[in-house]
Amino acid sequence: VLTVRPGDLLFYTIAEGQEKIPAHKFTTALKSTGLRTGDPRLKECMEMLKMTVKTTSDGALDRHLFKKCVQSNIVLLTQAFRKKFVIPDFQSFCAHMDELYVNAKSMSGGQVADYIPQLARFSPDLWAVSLCTVDGQRHTVGDTKVPFCLQSCVKPLKYAIAVHDHGTEYVHRFIGKEPSGLRFNKLFLNEEDKPHNPMVNAGAIVCTSLIKVMNFMNKLAGNEYVGFSNATFQSERESGDRNFAIGYYLKEKKCFPEGTDMTAILDFYFQLCSIEVTCESASVMAATLANGGFCPITGERVLSPESVRDTLSLMHSCGMYDFSGQFAFHVGLPAKSGVAGGILLVVPNVMGIMCWSPPLDKLGNSVRGIQFCTDLVSLCNFHNYDNLRHFAKKLDPRREGGDQRVKSVINLLFAAYTGDVSALRRFALSSMDMEQRDYDSRTALHVAAAEGHGEVVRFLLEACKVNPVPKDRWGNTPMDEAVHFGHHDVVTILRDYHTQYSPPETPEDKQSAEKNLDGLL
Ligand code: GLU
Repeated sequence: VLTVRPGDLLFYTIAEGQEKIPAHKFTTALKSTGLRTGDPRLKECMEMLKMTVKTTSDGALDRHLFKKCVQSNIVLLTQAFRKKFVIPDFQSFCAHMDELYVNAKSMSGGQVADYIPQLARFSPDLWAVSLCTVDGQRHTVGDTKVPFCLQSCVKPLKYAIAVHDHGTEYVHRFIGKEPSGLRFNKLFLNEEDKPHNPMVNAGAIVCTSLIKVMNFMNKLAGNEYVGFSNATFQSERESGDRNFAIGYYLKEKKCFPEGTDMTAILDFYFQLCSIEVTCESASVMAATLANGGFCPITGERVLSPESVRDTLSLMHSCGMYDFSGQFAFHVGLPAKSGVAGGILLVVPNVMGIMCWSPPLDKLGNSVRGIQFCTDLVSLCNFHNYDNLRHFAKKLDPRREGGDQRVKSVINLLFAAYTGDVSALRRFALSSMDMEQRDYDSRTALHVAAAEGHGEVVRFLLEACKVNPVPKDRWGNTPMDEAVHFGHHDVVTILRDYHTQYSPPETPEDKQSAEKNLDGLL
């Protein structure tokens, strides 16, 4: 039996019939999968590539050299080129995203925040969208390298850190979980004298008193740009009368853990608002939230899955100022916006997105950002309550997860092994591929024949019209199995069927096969 090694497979995939692969051809092909050559997970490969190319006369790699370069990152590279990432057709997905970007770019409404000069100086024309999938596929369009302050976009991050460090129960001794129904900086507590939730200022200030570590931010962003605007910090403090008022009110109502220095906490709060990111680096932060707390590009576990789930829940209900309810209704995704014009958007288990454009609508959300989020969900079935099976009108850029396929083969073969015809009926009805093969190229029919389950064999042949003579990796057919294990009834079924079998090729044949299936079910 011939087995092709992954390195060879990759070579043949990229070489397209040529003897050698030019280095730039490899990096171009790599980028089309969504991976960046600067991805920390590809460090070994890229270093080796650089060194190896120098030793060649033409900058091209033969099979041997190519394998040498890719071998240390072969798993990730194979996944990428075999389209095993969460967005398999990344190029066409990016083209769609660019269209949405252009559409929102033409919007001109809104006001740039001007309560401090550091915000007022931004041009209203700035507009950027960056995304990072849970597999670390990156796409970025517009002014994605301009630093801006997270402002309120930091609130979910520090809440996640607080829950990561202390657990949900402890954090919520101090802070509620309910939308406030009031402006984000209102001087107001809930009936238990706690801030309503960690996404409004009062809750975020209390949350600040619960966290210590700052290098979380770097880890969240996979070590991409995270800076600090001291000027913004100073201005926030000078113009922060309302936040001081909230601080004193919280102190009076004993909202902080015992021994908290309230004014020091306020300073820390203003500092956290003044953390700088770029659209690109923030998209990695969002992707870490989309990926259960694991940074997609470093693979590091930054936050506990529990803390991320809590954070996404509260972003969903409270993240968009007084537009939160409507955003949850129309977009149906967890998000948090900030006064600098950022919207940190999470498509759980798929990707993180940062939208950034300074002009804000009356409720304080980025005008272009809101447009993009709305358009995204009308195009793709990313709304939390979009039905993935029956809502075919929208695009589903996700692949059916690799794990899911493995699971379905296992379920299928197990049902065949145990003779569970009713399970097989259900699989057939949910349009499972009944001819799927396991790693030994064995089908359900092989297994059922070997086990002597005549009813299953008949169902697979007559109702599902599976190929009656598939060969496994030793070249055996279901008939060979039935003979080998002495299941004479199965041999008879297979032989009788074989004499009349013709594969359904025309659409009419397929239709009649389907009718047949209906009848038998
Ligand atoms: N830094 C300002 C504050 O805490 C604005 C935060 C925001 O909503 O982005 O009041």
